[in-house]
Amino acid sequence: MSRKAVAVLYEAGDSAKEPRLLGCKENELGLRSFLESKGFKYVVLSDKEKLLDKELPDTEILITTPFHPAYVTAERIAKAPKLKLCVTAGVGSDHIDLHAANKAKITVAEVTGSNVVSVAEHVVMQILALVRNYLPAYTQVIKGEWDVGAIAKDAFDLEGKVVGTVGVGRIGYRVLQRLKPFDCKELLYCDYQPLDAQREAAVGAKRVTFDELIQRCDVITINCPLHDSTRDLFNKEVFDKMKKGTYLVNTARGAIVNRDALVEAVNKGIVRGYAGDVWYPQPAPKDHPWRTMPRHGMTPHYSGTTLDAQKRYADGTKDIIQRYLEGKPQKKEDLIVENGEFINKSYVQPGKV
Ligand code: NAD
Repeated sequence: MSRKAVAVLYEAGDSAKEPRLLGCKENELGLRSFLESKGFKYVVLSDKEKLLDKELPDTEILITTPFHPAYVTAERIAKAPKLKLCVTAGVGSDHIDLHAANKAKITVAEVTGSNVVSVAEHVVMQILALVRNYLPAYTQVIKGEWDVGAIAKDAFDLEGKVVGTVGVGRIGYRVLQRLKPFDCKELLYCDYQPLDAQREAAVGAKRVTFDELIQRCDVITINCPLHDSTRDLFNKEVFDKMKKGTYLVNTARGAIVNRDALVEAVNKGIVRGYAGDVWYPQPAPKDHPWRTMPRHGMTPHYSGTTLDAQKRYADGTKDIIQRYLEGKPQKKEDLIVENGEFINKSYVQPGKV
């Protein structure tokens, strides 16, 4: 019997005619001939539930993506006794129950770094869109209106503001690098893996605690993974302590921000504007309250899936599978869990930041 690899990717319809849109169901990450030449049956699905469950019993390699996350729960892992390798085509493997993967000794690897510039650019775009009140201004133009006062009364410059990132890994650091020329008053970060003095000085950033960051920042950007201690990190208690009128941009994971507490904080004006591209669950249901809350600049989850990024994570997925098939070690930076252990330290928080 041939071996089986399964990929769960979003359906793109007509958009799939763009051949560089590799990460969709139709274009299969460009892996079909490679996998078939290695004796694999390659099944590509967009259904993340019933059809996936049907394939799991004899799947050896499971490829998923954060943009259309198949939630690989402990129950699903229990249905997949032959599963050896889960590859995340992209960055962020929180959609996989990593504790259950460890128990089953499944390797989880992702294409580290593949889309970190793509996301950092998106973060800067969304910070500027909120602070400068871009979206309401654009909407006026589309509607045939012209009311400068209505826009300008809520528009600011980024210069002179205090900006902070929760998490200063690959994306958080790149956001700080890109913000440096804007002459912000201060650039702050909180992280349990601090920058070394040289990297800190290069961007002019200062490390603070999470509590200090939320009390001092005019703009906060979230750039940490979703794990046990970041789920619901931004909850009612935190919003109540936050500086009033803060802008919040979250391209990390939707579940880091409590859905209903955010809506309340926006309605109270604690959060002056919210943007990002990540939701829980995904796709976001039609009635998700973030779609209709005031002063938001949300997009579907696409910041890390530009055509440039897709090429990088498609190549990286192939490299991870090739290493697995040849029995070669994975690149350490790509490993999230292996042999029952967390290898990536960004998912293991030793204490309060
Ligand atoms: P990274 O591992 O390089 O950096 C993450 C940083 O977060 C690490 O320094 C880690 O110590 C820190 N961290 C972890 N828990 C923390 C906490 N409680 N408080 C403060 N800092 C904490 O990862 P990265 O490449 O920068 O990616 C970060 C996350 O961004 C990913 O895990 C993923 O969830 C998300 N992401 C989103 C997209 C997108 O398209 N929207 C694309 C790529 C990544």
